[in-house]
Amino acid sequence: MRIIVQKFGGSSLSSPEKRLQAVNKVIAAKKEGYSCVVVVSAMGRKGDPYATDTLIDLLKEIHPEIKVRELDMLLNCGEIISAVVISQLFNKLGHETIVLNGAQAGIITDNVFTEARILQVKPERIIKSLEENKIVIVPGFQGITETGELTTLGRGGSDTTAAALGVALEAEYIDIFTDVDGIKTADPRIVEEAKTLDVVTYTEICNLAHQGAKVIHPRAVEIAMQKNIPLRIRSTFEETPGTLVTNLGHANKVEIPNDRIITGITQVPNITQLKINLNAKENGKKLNLKIFRALALANISVDFINIYPEEAIFTVKDEDTEKAVKILQNMGLEVFTTPDCAKISVVGANMAGVPGVMATIVEALTEENIEIMQTADSHTTIWCLVRKNDMEKAVKVLHKRFKLG
Ligand code: ADP
Ligand code: ASP
Ligand code: MG
Repeated sequence: MRIIVQKFGGSSLSSPEKRLQAVNKVIAAKKEGYSCVVVVSAMGRKGDPYATDTLIDLLKEIHPEIKVRELDMLLNCGEIISAVVISQLFNKLGHETIVLNGAQAGIITDNVFTEARILQVKPERIIKSLEENKIVIVPGFQGITETGELTTLGRGGSDTTAAALGVALEAEYIDIFTDVDGIKTADPRIVEEAKTLDVVTYTEICNLAHQGAKVIHPRAVEIAMQKNIPLRIRSTFEETPGTLVTNLGHANKVEIPNDRIITGITQVPNITQLKINLNAKENGKKLNLKIFRALALANISVDFINIYPEEAIFTVKDEDTEKAVKILQNMGLEVFTTPDCAKISVVGANMAGVPGVMATIVEALTEENIEIMQTADSHTTIWCLVRKNDMEKAVKVLHKRFKLG
């Protein structure tokens, strides 16, 4: 059996016309001889009747504190509705289908509600249905724990479902169909001239995805990479090849560019910078430990961490600021906050050891009067913290300066 997993995002399923285009992609693959596993997201985006955000709002309108176990039960419904609707459309067009929800598809997760991780996939039932020549439709983003609790895999998690099934079924391809024609050198909503990348390595796309390129979930890339299953990011609405994500250039008869220094620019908005004066009663070392332990206990994730003898600087998500400040003030600390910041990342798997990348970034941002509030770097990424008002300008100017368009 030549198996292909085809995942359609919510933006590709938001109207009857779009759903027909999605279904036609599957029918085309079937005609090519593939056994098709279709993974679907909930239909549409915030405001659409069965979209994930709409379901969340349904509870928030009643009371802001939501029990995560029950939330996951509700969120499972969005993808199930989508799967059954798509199935009906296939049936109308004369194709036999079966819908298998997360549990029936054998997706076993841990019990971290709203952010569950897949522990195991038991694909036997899918394989049996494929052997019966059925198109198998699986609602994405969901799984079941060993004790029978319904879970979800984190926002954007239908990509993760597709990747996990692709690996378990040893698929020839995992196709991620979306509303753009591939992975681009920057978010096309900000940089109109952003270029679609033909081929990228798992590492390159993983870095982009971790740094805010929402086009694919980073965990999906990590899973596909384990078994070297090629991923393709493609448009539901166009006939273009999209972006191939692979390490195996030869096997896929493509050339993977290994001299690309910068792959792309990404951004993450809505971040607050916190500065804490450590010249207090206790010595800084002990305080640092207490600060980060307290924040971790409150489930607040910190980023951009710089620790000096006299102060600690780091960032949290805007939505966590109030909680973080309260915790720190209760410890008797003086906290200075700068809300509404954004993290800009210049990402490139081959930038290590290349002189001048930082100089180019500083030059480009300074020329545009964009204040760099903090920086950090690794061997694949340079991060700059800027004000949110400067975010779009910063992405545009860096994209241009590195000639990515
Ligand atoms: P889906 O509904 O298919 O899951 P998403 O909204 O999750 O779609 O992802 C697709 C969107 O990701 C695109 O509409 C695009 O605006 C955005 N995006 C952000 N960064 C990038 C990038 N580097 N390349 C392509 N798309 C990107
Ligand atoms: N519907 C879920 C979300 O909006 C999962 C997904 O679309 O991938 O996050
Ligand atoms: Mg998505």
